[in-house]
This record gives sequence, C-alpha cells and structure tokens, in this order.
Amino acid sequence: MKKTRKETKMNDKVVTIDGPVGVGKSTVAKILSKKLNYTYLDTGAMYRAFSLKVLKAGIKVDDIDKIVSLTEVTNIEFSGGKIFLDGRDVSDLIRTKEIDDIVSQIASIPEVRRFMRSAQRQIASKGYVVLEGRDCGTAIYPEAKYKFFLTASVEARAKRRMNDEKYSGKYSSLEEVIESINKRDQIDMSRDDSPLRVPEGSIVIDTTNLSIDEVVNLILSYIK
Ligand code: C5P
Repeated sequence: MKKTRKETKMNDKVVTIDGPVGVGKSTVAKILSKKLNYTYLDTGAMYRAFSLKVLKAGIKVDDIDKIVSLTEVTNIEFSGGKIFLDGRDVSDLIRTKEIDDIVSQIASIPEVRRFMRSAQRQIASKGYVVLEGRDCGTAIYPEAKYKFFLTASVEARAKRRMNDEKYSGKYSSLEEVIESINKRDQIDMSRDDSPLRVPEGSIVIDTTNLSIDEVVNLILSYIK
C-alpha cells in the first residue's frame, strides 16, 4: 500500500472507498460504516437500479436521448439497507448478469453521472458517511480526508465474485466472470467523465492476500 499524496485540509466526516469490480469494496465499506456508526452509501447500486429501469423500459443502451430523459422521471432512495427505485425495493433485482452487462455503458453517459453525483453529494454533505464506488474520491467527494483505493489481482476478484452469494449461480464459469470483470473495468477506466482512477491523496491497499477483517482494520488504523 502507498500514499499517493499528502492530505491537505479536508473533510474528516467522509470516507471514500474506490476500486475496480469485485475487490471487496462493498463488504469492507459496510463493515466499516457499522464500526464507525456512519451512513453507508453504495453508489454502484444507484447505477444498477437505474440500469434496471432502462432494461425494463426496453431502451437500448445506445439510445442516449431516451436514457437521459429517463433520469428526469427516476427516484432512487435508500432505506433500511435496501435500495428503492421509484418506491419499489429492487435490492435483489440489481445483482444479475443482465445488469452487469449494461451498467458500465449506462454509467459512462455524462448526464447520467451528473444526475447520480448530485444525489450522492447531497447524501454525503450531511457527513459521517462511507461512500463506496468508482469516483467517490475523485469526483463525488474529493475533499474527503480519508480516501482509500482497493486493488486485487483479477483472479482473486473473480473467485470472490463466484463465491459471493449475491452473484452465486449467475455466472457459469470463472472465465465468464473474468471476462465480465475485465470488460466492465475497461469501460469504467476509459470513460471521459470521472473515470475509475486512484484519487489524489488516497491510500492504496492491495487486498489480494488480505482477509476482509484485515482490510477493515487497516483502514481503521488510518482513520483513528
Ligand atoms: O460497484 P458496482 O459493481 O455495483 O457498480 C456497478 C457499476 O456502476 C460499475 O461497474 C460502474 O460502471 C458504475 N459505477 C460508477 N461510479 C460509481 C459506482 C459505480 O460508474 N461511483
């Protein structure tokens, strides 16, 4: 792990955790937020929920105008650890291969990102929040004092995803998971608007050979 830059004066009520697919961000962020008694914001779930709406509306992923119009009639909220799309709990419906296949392309549309960022900033501005995703430390809350970027080998990430009960049975082989991970990472890293990057001033943690508890404790050691 290495520090990419010295922190300047920053907001110490916001913790950001970014990283590529399947690196353990959600699990780590959830445990961390409980330990700190902070709100947990899964920003990826918001892109997934919106992608579900696009899918259900039968809109093609390259029909940018229709997708952008859909943001104007979309409401995404969290309550009791669940995510609600237009008032309906979609927590279980957003973890599918169909959503995996389209979410990054939809998340690369600048208007969609603007829509999400505005909602995410509003939640984060209340403070005492753990933000988890791809652009939390670079675009949503660059002034967060505690910024972390998790990495791991693609094989380790694919194995974790295969063992993740939320995704179990949704992929037929490790190769299929690796292909999906690589494709999504590639789109997330190469988009023009807030691409997946190591945030300035963040602490980079390679989790390949670390347990979830070790990662959480390492992060806590920086915060406390
Ligand atoms: O974290 P998760 O894998 O659920 O995120 C799903 C997708 O949402 C990512 O692959 C990425 O395309 C998009 N995303 C994003 N910015 C975020 C969080 C997620 O673009 N802050």
